Amino acid sequence: MTFNALIVDKAEDGRVSAAIEPITEDRLPEGNVTVAVEYSTLNYKDGLCLTGKGGLVRNYPHVPGIDFAGTVEASSDDRYKPGDKVVLTGWRVGEVHWGGYAQKARVKGDWLVPLPDGLTPRQAMAVGTAGFTAMLAVIALEAHGTVPGEGEVLVTGAAGGVGSVATAILAKLGHGVAAVTGRPETADYLTGLGATTIVPREELAEASPRPLESERWSGCVDAVGGTMLGRVLKQMQYGRAVAAVGLAGGAAVEGFTVVPFLLRGVSLLGIDSVMCPAAPRLEAWRRVAADLPLDRLEAMIEDRKLSDLPALGPAILKGQVKGRVVIDVNG
Ligand code: NDP
Repeated sequence: MTFNALIVDKAEDGRVSAAIEPITEDRLPEGNVTVAVEYSTLNYKDGLCLTGKGGLVRNYPHVPGIDFAGTVEASSDDRYKPGDKVVLTGWRVGEVHWGGYAQKARVKGDWLVPLPDGLTPRQAMAVGTAGFTAMLAVIALEAHGTVPGEGEVLVTGAAGGVGSVATAILAKLGHGVAAVTGRPETADYLTGLGATTIVPREELAEASPRPLESERWSGCVDAVGGTMLGRVLKQMQYGRAVAAVGLAGGAAVEGFTVVPFLLRGVSLLGIDSVMCPAAPRLEAWRRVAADLPLDRLEAMIEDRKLSDLPALGPAILKGQVKGRVVIDVNG
């Protein structure tokens, strides 16, 4: 029996291509649980894997897809039996291990979580890696003492995947949300998700020579990194925290000194969704199911299929994708 997989391969001249191929189960990597994949998604890292950028994929041919939801088909792990609905994010699946851009995946049971109560597989994937990470960032800010009513929480890269989910969750929790976007045409979309202020990207894009700026934000979920992160750190209110999630705008923080840490007690909280241990992982999924308004989740979803992915990879790297792209692998 064959099934469809989106295989990324590298030619001798170094050119990377992606195409759907019918393959058999014996080509799947080792693992103790086989899952009939229903949905996967498009994340920034998938864009890198689909185009061969960033050095994430070491071995070709490769099946990308850093997250998936589906039904267990076979399992030698006591925790999972055929018919169980499961979700996977992280653990370098889709980067090192073959991922969710196929109708079947074989993985370690340790990497799976049960489908969270109240979410369908499609909804769980609309959350996916980006949304799960946004939830981890919100939890980290809460642990730092960020509470509603003490000023707006800034979300950078707001129209993207992490930013959209972070905006909706923070708004549902009662925070004022200032959404930074480089796409003015997404203002209505972001307001619909609950943003209270739209901040044009240009306002934060340039490095500032000043060591500190006026105190503006009571917290920040930062998906952009780079110069913007340096700028935001100078604008945090006294004692507040930035949850650093991503680097869509670059890894190097320019024009930044340690002064915000020393004179304002600002904290920089690192967020890693990939190796997140089981207990906080399950808690974050529980919180997603409890705190993410499903009507707002629906507004973020663009439904696509496996064959759309070769074109979508370059688009997400250019910051052209809005919200969450959900891939119906059987579509
Ligand atoms: P998206 O591409 O969906 O969103 C990124 C957004 O950032 C874009 O939509 C755009 O938003 C903004 N942006 C893009 N390029 C630039 C730029 N040059 N300067 C300023 N803003 C820019 O990606 P995701 O939301 O999926 O991921 C965002 C980042 O988070 C990535 O770096 C990703 O690798 C990382 N990530 C990290 C995780 C972790 O565990 N730490 C997990 C998941 C993601 P707008 O148009 O609104 O300005």
